[in-house]
Amino acid sequence: MQTVDYICLMDLLQRDEKVIWHPFTQQKNRAPIIPIVSGKGSLLFDNKGNQYIDAISSWWVTLHGHAHPYIAEKIYQQALTLEQVIFAGFTHEPAIALAERLLTILPADYSKIFYSDNGSTSTEVAIKMAIQYWWNKGNRQRKKILAFNNSYHGDTFGAMSVSDRSVFTLAFQDLLFEVIFIDTPTQENISELKSIIHKEGNNIAAFIYEPLVQGAGGMKMYNPYLMNELLNTVKEASIICIADEVMTGFGRTGKFFASAYLNKKPDIICMSKGLTGGTMALGATACTNDIYMAYVEDDAMKTFFHGHSFTANPIACTAAMASLDLLEDPACISQIDWLSKSINEFAHSLNNHPGIKNVRCLGTILAFELNQGKDEYLNTISKKITQFCLENGIYLRPLGNSIYIMPPYCINNAELCSIFEVIHKILTKFSN
Ligand SMILES: *Cc1c(COP(=O)(O)O)cnc(C)c1O
Repeated sequence: MQTVDYICLMDLLQRDEKVIWHPFTQQKNRAPIIPIVSGKGSLLFDNKGNQYIDAISSWWVTLHGHAHPYIAEKIYQQALTLEQVIFAGFTHEPAIALAERLLTILPADYSKIFYSDNGSTSTEVAIKMAIQYWWNKGNRQRKKILAFNNSYHGDTFGAMSVSDRSVFTLAFQDLLFEVIFIDTPTQENISELKSIIHKEGNNIAAFIYEPLVQGAGGMKMYNPYLMNELLNTVKEASIICIADEVMTGFGRTGKFFASAYLNKKPDIICMSKGLTGGTMALGATACTNDIYMAYVEDDAMKTFFHGHSFTANPIACTAAMASLDLLEDPACISQIDWLSKSINEFAHSLNNHPGIKNVRCLGTILAFELNQGKDEYLNTISKKITQFCLENGIYLRPLGNSIYIMPPYCINNAELCSIFEVIHKILTKFSN
């Protein structure tokens, strides 16, 4: 076929290097970049005919596999019907139907969905919503945000401000707004955390957290019972709770939302990544009626002045509906159960391995650290492991010396076993 010849003949890498600036990538002496021409299920295919199992769901977005025909068909039909329309003054069925559906599956009672177009904007919206809530109520004292050390909530300025101070934020340090950072709760620190909240509570507008798993921080997991205790104290201090479920949402942790594991429910929930099954860029922020009502006022200044060109894009909303169709199918739910169980068993088998530490898993996420190498993002071992895995037909992208997997739910047993095998090979080659 002509198109395939075209792709093979042109030097994609040279063209790429001329015009593209890649995310999170030092462009000088960058690691080899691979042109991907297609995907199917858990597999990605490059321009030379190699295939790779996508063990991290292409940055945690892909749920049902690549190029899923059901979602593709729905996207196509929607694109032929209505591809985009301004969302102030207009509305449309895909946005309404998706909001109705999200409200039924969210882990508590929420009254409104505010759309945006990615994970960072979904957290920006949440933070602004919470701060202006207090402002609208005439409270000029509650302005600070409480967040966890080692957190990640996105790359735009507000999202960056509430994220851990790290190599990601270093150049912007002085420009980020002030945030009260606390550690994730442990038996040892819980009373100290509570006393910080007692002391500062009246100055804090909102607490933003990644429920149970800190994704970009290295798939660090923390104790749900202690988190309940912490949330109790936070709620008693009338602080708005924002659960950033951008990564944990839509089944990753074995439940639809990680907040379902916790007794205390957030007032605001941020969603993106798996929302469209990983096919289209879409963000959504859900809020309680109490928050919403603080904006329903005669005073025009109490409007929520926020929006994006592609707010509630109809194709993206349709993709999300299609993804939810697949996600709610009993076949997918049993697939998630099977995947969670397999990952749990594999985690147990790794437990006493001398070269690694902190083996942990929750639902479909497995992570551990190599004893070798430092626990930091710029660790060079991560690149070596990625390269080694690619040579073995698997795509993995460790965070520092934290190795993790988070496969699409459609992965089959043979593919999953190949991932486990390559992990064993990593342990032989890279840990001692
Ligand atoms: C990825 C991520 C974000 C940012 O989402 P983007 O779509 O990359 O902007 C925010 N919060 C969490 C928990 C994430 O994992």
